[in-house]
Amino acid sequence: MMSKKIVIVGGGAAGMMAAISAAEKSAAVTLLEPNERLGKKLNITGKGRCNVTNNADLQTLLANVPKNGKFLYSAFSRFDGRDAMAFFERLGVPLKTERGNRVFPVSDRSFDVSAALERRLKTLKVRLLRDRALSLDIADGMVTGVRGEQGSYPAGAVVLATGGVSYPATGSTGEGHRLAREAGHTVTPLQGSLVPLRDFGVGRDLQGLSLRNVALTVFENDKKIYMDFGELLFTHFGVSGPLVLSASAHMRHFDKKAYRLEIDLKPALDEGQLDKRLLSDFAKYANHDFANALNDLLPQKLIPTVVAWSEIPPHQKVHDLTREQRQGLIRILKHFPVVIAGPCPVTDAIVTSGGVKVSEINPTTMESKIVKGLYFAGELIDVDAYTGGFNLQIAWATGHAAGQAAAECNQGDEN
Ligand SMILES: Cc1cc2nc3c(=O)[nH]c(=O)nc-3n(C[C@H](O)[C@H](O)[C@H](O)COP(=O)(O)OP(=O)(O)OC[C@H]3O[C@@H](n4cnc5c(N)ncnc54)[C@H](O)[C@@H]3O)c2cc1C
Repeated sequence: MMSKKIVIVGGGAAGMMAAISAAEKSAAVTLLEPNERLGKKLNITGKGRCNVTNNADLQTLLANVPKNGKFLYSAFSRFDGRDAMAFFERLGVPLKTERGNRVFPVSDRSFDVSAALERRLKTLKVRLLRDRALSLDIADGMVTGVRGEQGSYPAGAVVLATGGVSYPATGSTGEGHRLAREAGHTVTPLQGSLVPLRDFGVGRDLQGLSLRNVALTVFENDKKIYMDFGELLFTHFGVSGPLVLSASAHMRHFDKKAYRLEIDLKPALDEGQLDKRLLSDFAKYANHDFANALNDLLPQKLIPTVVAWSEIPPHQKVHDLTREQRQGLIRILKHFPVVIAGPCPVTDAIVTSGGVKVSEINPTTMESKIVKGLYFAGELIDVDAYTGGFNLQIAWATGHAAGQAAAECNQGDEN
């Protein structure tokens, strides 16, 4: 019997995993990727270190997928973070687990992850073709092949794994969404998640300032919805940095809700302790102007803004400061406000929120409920997760499910 012909569209994390999973089930697999290299986006993940997954059980994985997490129950049950770890260790990539159970290669090189996947694809004799899929061949509700720029590829099953629309220079340009739509699927609105945020201008004066060890609280219509500690960066458009990217994944309703951030510039000190600290600094600088008394407490770049917002005259002598003025200053230091105008464009986001509608996909097999033999994997699907390796875990788990099911389905065995 001839082996089943499967075409995988997209050589990113999900496509490579789908190709490996199908080839391990003895399918004859062709992988189409227009980039010169496979895994172009994978190579820039985790600042080049690749936070490859999270060392987490099923429940933790699901809790970190704020949109359509339930859809992933079956795929995660069969391939969770520990399965992903075992998979990569088997491929010869030693791993380590860091803070928050984030898993990285011991080498801190994402390239080692993509190279291991590519080696496995070659061992399994997956046909790697540099081509871009232009359309799907569909007859009588069944997929029969893929047309590319360079040729046509008949197939008994096709896995679409073309990614989202973030960082389009890596190849994820949204073509898969068009192919899915042409096949009759709904694509939910696309927007960025894990994305820098635009403010109403505070950032301009503070541009380039990086704050470590601050606490960030997010308010949605004045309700506190998120708080975390970490590093934040002021930019020419607003705020960015790991803390902001993580927070942005919780801000999902810019169309109908208002968001503001509060930065606690001194999270290690409560208000009483901070007051003591101010009193000690002010004793040291008693005869200075107020504007020159904060040098030991704050980065230089931040001082003019804090002084302006404290409403204390900058040239007032420190020994003249009242208790009320000090209390006002403490409020600013503990609740430094940034009002958010909106997210940066989806192209600047780490992941795309929105995609092929999950109710049109079988959650066990990743097969389309509209076209037989058509499968989806990875960021193309309308699921996205918080930071911590969860987005790649979605790619591995859905790629694994789609590849296996595509190899096992009965349609077009002799194609
Ligand atoms: C800067 C950055 C850092 C990140 N860091 C992490 C991290 O540390 N951990 C984590 O979990 N997640 C991280 N992510 C998210 C993660 O990279 C993605 O969620 C993941 O790569 C999605 O995999 P995918 O295979 O679905 O899509 P992609 O990796 O985008 O791959 C899609 C592939 O399809 C190809 N393609 C597109 N159209 C066609 C077509 N018509 N024909 C053929 N091929 C096509 C593209 O060229 C591309 O190679 C990061 C993302 C970015 C941008």
